[in-house]
Formats: sequence, C-alpha cells, structure tokens
Amino acid sequence: MLLTDVSAALGTDFVSIAAEFGEQERDYLARTRAYVDDEVLPVINDFWERAEFPLDLVRRMGELGLVSDGIDYPGVPAMSPASAGLVAMELSRGDGSLATFAGVQAGLTMRSIDHFGSEEQKARWLPALARCEALGAFALTEPDHGSDSLLLETTARLDGDEYVLDGAKRWIGNGSVADVVVVWARGEDGKVGGYLVEKGTPGYEATVITGKLSVRAVWQADIVLTDVRVPVANKLPGARNFKDTGKVLAGTRSQCAFSALGHAVAAYDAALSYASDRKQFGKRLVEFQIVQAKLVGMLQEVVGMQLYCMRLAQLNSRGALDDTVASLAKLNNTSKARQVCLQARDLLGGNGILLENHVMRHLADVEAIHTYEGTETIQTLLVGRDITGVGAFV
Ligand SMILES: Cc1cc2nc3c(=O)[nH]c(=O)nc-3n(C[C@H](O)[C@H](O)[C@H](O)COP(=O)(O)OP(=O)(O)OC[C@H]3O[C@@H](n4cnc5c(N)ncnc54)[C@H](O)[C@@H]3O)c2cc1C
Repeated sequence: MLLTDVSAALGTDFVSIAAEFGEQERDYLARTRAYVDDEVLPVINDFWERAEFPLDLVRRMGELGLVSDGIDYPGVPAMSPASAGLVAMELSRGDGSLATFAGVQAGLTMRSIDHFGSEEQKARWLPALARCEALGAFALTEPDHGSDSLLLETTARLDGDEYVLDGAKRWIGNGSVADVVVVWARGEDGKVGGYLVEKGTPGYEATVITGKLSVRAVWQADIVLTDVRVPVANKLPGARNFKDTGKVLAGTRSQCAFSALGHAVAAYDAALSYASDRKQFGKRLVEFQIVQAKLVGMLQEVVGMQLYCMRLAQLNSRGALDDTVASLAKLNNTSKARQVCLQARDLLGGNGILLENHVMRHLADVEAIHTYEGTETIQTLLVGRDITGVGAFV
C-alpha cells in the first residue's frame, strides 16, 4: 500500500503521522478500513436501531485477525501498539459498538488472562478469543460500585477444591453471551482476585440491559452470581490485588483515546462532505466563513487527538507508557470527540439527527467512552493526584 493511500485512509493526516508507520501498521489500517467500509457501514445502522448484536460481523473480525490488542502469545495476531490503536480507531470510525466489543474481548478479557493467567488458562482461551470463536467478558463494575470499584462487594470463598462466588455485577459487555467471564471478587483475605466463570455454570444469571441509547449494537448485562462454583484452577494466579485490575484498565484507556479519535474522524468527514454539497442562500455551505471556522475547529481537535495517539503508541512500544499519560489522553480525546461530533451534528442541520447520516450514532456512541474505563471526572482526579500529590477522590 502506498503511503499516499494511507494518508487518504486517515483523511485528516495534516501532520504526516502516516509517514511514521511501518509495513505492519499500514497493513492493519488497510485491513480494518476495508472491513469497516465494505462490511460494517452498509449494515450497522440497522443493527444499531434494532439494538441487535451483529455476531457474524464479530466472528469476521476474528477471521480477519483484528482482535488482539497487541497481546504477544502464539495463535494471537501480532500487533504493535500503533497497529492495535489504529484498529481501535478504524473500528470506531465505523461503529462504536464493534469497537466496544473488541475492547472487552481483547483489551479487558484477553489482557486479564494474558497478564495474570496460568499457562493452561492462556492456551485454552487466548487463541480462541482472538479468533472470536469464543466470546469473553470482564466483570468488575457492580450495581453499587462503578467509579469506586475498588470497594467491590462480590465475594469468593474457598470450599474444598472450588471457589464459591456470590454478588452482583452491572454493565458487563458480552456478559449474556460470553463463553468465559473474568469475574473480579474479594477473597476471604480481603484481596481482589480474578476468577474465570465458564458459560453454563449454575448460579450465573445475566440479563441484557435494555433502553440503552449508546453503543446499541453491543450488549451489556446485569449479572447475579448465586453460589457460583468454579474449580480452583479457574482463579487467575497472577492477580493478587485490586492494583492488578488497574493495570488492565490503564491499557484500555489508551485504546479509548484511539476510539475517540475514530468517532471524531467519522464526524468530521461527514460534516466536510455534507457542507461541500449542501446549498443555502445560493451558495455551498463550505463557502461561508462561519462554516469554514467550524470545520477548521473540528480539524484542529482531530489533529491534536492524533498527536496524543501517536505519542501513546510510541511510549507504549518502548514499555514507557505512564498511567497518567493514558488518563490524560483518554480525558483529552473523549472530551474533544464529544465536541467534534456535536459540531458535525450541527452542520448537518435536520439531517444531522437521521441515523442514515451516521453522525448521531457517533455522537451517541462517544457518550459511552466518556463514561467507561473510568469517567472523565475520574481521569481528571487521577491526573490531579499525580500533579499535586493529593488524592481528591473522597
Ligand atoms: C456502555 C458501557 C459499557 C461498560 N462495559 C463494562 C464492562 O464490560 N465491564 C465492567 O466491569 N464495567 C463496564 N462498564 C461500567 C463502567 O466502567 C462504569 O459505568 C464507570 O466506571 C462509571 O461507573 P458508574 O456508571 O457506576 O457511575 P458512578 O461511579 O456512579 O458515577 C456517576 C457520576 O459521579 C461522578 N463521580 C464518581 N466519583 C466521583 C468523585 N470521587 N468525585 C467527583 N465525581 C465523581 C462520575 O464521574 C459520574 O459523573 C460499562 C459502562 C458502560 C456505560
């Protein structure tokens, strides 16, 4: 693929970021872009409107080798941090539900197993999850503990050669369809650990959350765990306390920054294209100074988001990505993406609220990223603690 094609694929590459990509990044970008343009965009609005999970599109993502988030394990597609970020960006440019699915499957579930699992757990689950032949979920949030999930109340007690899990979880992506769920629970020593609950385990009940107006094409569930018994071998041996959970979340925060960029690029492209054609007062919208100012303002934010993402990928590839930088990038990019989507929706006038023009879907979907993996406020508090040395959470 020629560099110019990659630039065109980025659409907004005014600071020549594509010139930094290697062969692998170009390949992932081109592959994800083709999947999004040819297979996702033609059908996704209908899935979104019906709030239906597009299982065939998800399996296809696995076939195409797009699900890995940079995990280094045999049978899992090899991806540099930049490749993983570009995949997240492009998936979100297509659809936030599919990007959310991939984030849960790879960024949360596979990463938990990769970081903390035994060799048997990794061999059993990682390749199957990467191919999307098995579906995964990551159950941390509870009805009474979201931002303060470190206070989680789900318990795990040892009974012979089994752990018994009791409690409730909320907002769990794939929770109703997953073959394996990483459940975070408090052990008898008070420490938080991860437990693999397999599909069909008695006492595990999941109910899909309905009435959701963001990322409608992926399902989150309320889960009740009543005397759920898992073999001792299903505990993640490397997860020893809540800080370990945080290590997984720090990785997915940087993917959120790339996803936010994807939504913003989609919104910007739609606004530029619409304003180039639409005529009012006898002129195309792009001929009005105020419209140009709005488009330039959007581009300004998009380029800033790209620079954050590029730097995240560079630091990550050197193993030098600081949690605070990941928080800062998520905070910056999600808040800018909300503004860019809102501005695009404005420029499309009445047509901006029609699903067929995609912008409203992106505007709604970006609201989910604003909240999950730690809300904008929580990212602010994390960065604030780092720069002042004072935690202001409580
Ligand atoms: C679409 C979607 C998918 C999700 N997927 C998953 C998943 O797969 N697995 C999983 O475990 N969880 C998942 N979540 C849960 C998500 O991580 C939580 O929603 C998030 O952490 C916020 O928790 P909460 O919704 O309980 O909000 P709350 O924590 O109740 O926050 C409500 C408001 O209070 C603010 N707030 C909270 N604490 C403070 C404070 N100390 N100071 C100032 N303001 C504060 C927040 O910023 C927010 O504005 C998902 C959520 C959504 C919406």
